[in-house]
Amino acid sequence: AQGSAAPRRVLLKLSGEALMGGAQYGVDAQTVDRIASDVAEVFRSGVQIGIVVGGGNIFRGLTAAARGMDRAQGDAAGMLATVINALMVQNALERQDVPTRVLSAIEMSSIAEPYIRRRAVRHMEKGRVVICAAGTGNPFFTTDTAAALRAAELDCDLLLKGTQVDGVYSADPRKDPDAVRHDRLTYMEVLSRDLNVMDAAAISLARENRLPIVVFNLHEDGSFQRVMRGEGPYTRIEE
Ligand code: UDP
Repeated sequence: AQGSAAPRRVLLKLSGEALMGGAQYGVDAQTVDRIASDVAEVFRSGVQIGIVVGGGNIFRGLTAAARGMDRAQGDAAGMLATVINALMVQNALERQDVPTRVLSAIEMSSIAEPYIRRRAVRHMEKGRVVICAAGTGNPFFTTDTAAALRAAELDCDLLLKGTQVDGVYSADPRKDPDAVRHDRLTYMEVLSRDLNVMDAAAISLARENRLPIVVFNLHEDGSFQRVMRGEGPYTRIEE
């Protein structure tokens, strides 16, 4: 799969928007259940899984800052939003009998373990899906960057970004009928063409650590399983 050895440990980035489904705000329970059953199947196939959850469906620091809120404080609120999502994802996975742990970059010991790298690795080795909450724990970052960071430090073979479209296109496929999907891109192409995949900090971090990124559509049943078997459509970003 994936053109090289089958991935042994992967990091899945779930944006807040992905959890929203058709809703305008917050979390759509059915959507989260569907994603959880897809994750559960991949988990049962023996792949170790870490998940980084976003928070944009609830709160974004940048949006709040544009309306006059202090950016660092808005970002703190945004990181708390990711904790809410993490608990929803944990609940949905547990209902599929998948053992999980939420590890938070902001200490919140009564509802989540603190994020400790070695502990995260140990959980995955012991057969638990690790859900990383609160991003990097720092303002001015995004959960995309947190996903690249966790994937690198947890020694993942692959960073998967589930989105609303089945890869990276030459233009927005929802607006431009001539848009074509790239099967493969280099990190530099993504950076220099300013392609809307993940922010530049995340792409740079992946590039420095030779971490391949796969962008795929999370909104089709079983798409995570198919991508893990190497079946497209998806866009793969690497050197
Ligand atoms: N955030 C942050 N530091 C981080 C990750 C996230 O301050 O390391 C804040 C930031 O305000 C961001 C919000 O949390 O807007 C939600 O994360 P993000 O926008 O990345 O979520 P997504 O777009 O994936 O839903």
